[in-house]
Amino acid sequence: KLYNQVMDLKGNIRVYCRVRPFLPGQSKDPSTIGLIEEGKITIVTSKNGKEGFKPFNFNKVFSASATQEEVFSDMQPLIRSVLDGYNICIFAYGQTGSGKTYTMSGPKEVTETSMGVNYRALNDLFYIIENRREIFSYEISVQMIEIYNEQVRDLLSKKIRNNPQNGLAVPYASVVTVQSTADVIELMKLGQGNRAVGATAMNDRSSRSHSCLTIHVKGKELTSGTIQRGCMHLIDLAGSERVEKSEARGERLKEAQHINKSLSALGDVIASLAQSSSHVPYRNSKLTQLLQGSLGGQAKTLMFVHISPEMNALGETLSTLNFAERVS
Ligand code: ADP
Ligand code: MG
Repeated sequence: KLYNQVMDLKGNIRVYCRVRPFLPGQSKDPSTIGLIEEGKITIVTSKNGKEGFKPFNFNKVFSASATQEEVFSDMQPLIRSVLDGYNICIFAYGQTGSGKTYTMSGPKEVTETSMGVNYRALNDLFYIIENRREIFSYEISVQMIEIYNEQVRDLLSKKIRNNPQNGLAVPYASVVTVQSTADVIELMKLGQGNRAVGATAMNDRSSRSHSCLTIHVKGKELTSGTIQRGCMHLIDLAGSERVEKSEARGERLKEAQHINKSLSALGDVIASLAQSSSHVPYRNSKLTQLLQGSLGGQAKTLMFVHISPEMNALGETLSTLNFAERVS
C-alpha cells in the first residue's frame, strides 16, 4: 500500500517533460533549452534577433542527460500500483523525433541500459510478483492495439484486421496470457511486425498512429481468495506536429485531421479531469472512448511530453508545452 500513498500525495494526474539530447552529428547550437530545475523548464525563444525566456511548470522535468533508469525509477511507484488494483495510463506525447518511442520502448537496437519503460515495467512487475508469491497469485495478460485514422487494429491477431466493433472496446482485441518479460518481448515483435505489414503503402506509419500496449493484472490473495484487477496502458501517441496545410493532401490530410482531433480530445479529457469538471468528454475520439475506464476516478494518469532541443523545433516545442500546461 506504500505505493498508493506515494501517488496519492502527488495526485492522480501528473505531467512530466523530457528533453531529447542533440543527436550525434547535430550541431549543439543553438538550443531552445534554458534552465531546468526539478519541475520547471525555461525555453529560450528568439524573436526578431532578441532573446526571450518562457518558463513552464510541471511535476517533473528530465533534462537531456537523464538516463532511462532515472526516468523509470521515478515512474516505478506508479507502475507498481497496478498490482494493487489501480488502472494506469501513461502517454508519450510530442512531435515526431522528440523521443516518445525512446522513452516507452528504447532505441532501435535496444540494450540493457537503453531499455525503455515498457520492458522495465514488465521486468519489475514479474519481479514483485515472484516476491509476493506466498501471499498472492497473479495472472498477467497483454493486448496490443494501434489506432490509425480513428480505426482500432488488433496487433496481436494473427490475421490483421480492423476491429469489427468499430473499436469501441479493447475487450474485442486479442488478450494473451504471459509468464515472463521474454513472452512479452516476443509478442511485441509480433505486434510491431503487424504494424509494419500495414505500413507498406503508407509513409512512416508508426508516427501517424497511436500504439497502445495494455497490461492486465489479476491478483488473488491466497488466504482470503479476494480478487483484484488492475490494468496499465502504455501509449506511444502519434506525432503532435501540425502539418502545413499547403503540403497536406489526400491521405496525408486525412491522417493529420484524425491525429489532431484525437490529441485535442485527449487533452480535453485530461484537462477536465484535472479541473474536476462534471462533464468529461470521453466520446470525442476512439482513444478516449477506449480508455474511459482507465481515465478519471481512482485511475492514475501520467502525461509524459517530449521536446526536441533544436531552435528549428521551437514552434512545436512551445505548442507541446502549452498542451502539457493545459492538462496539468
Ligand atoms: P519519436 O518516437 O518521438 O518519433 P524517437 O524515440 O524515435 O522519437 O527518437 C528519435 C531519435 O532520437 C531516435 O534515433 C532515438 O533513438 C533518439 N533519442 C530519442 N531520445 C533519446 C534520448 N533520451 N537519448 C538518446 N537518444 C534519444
Ligand atoms: Mg516513435
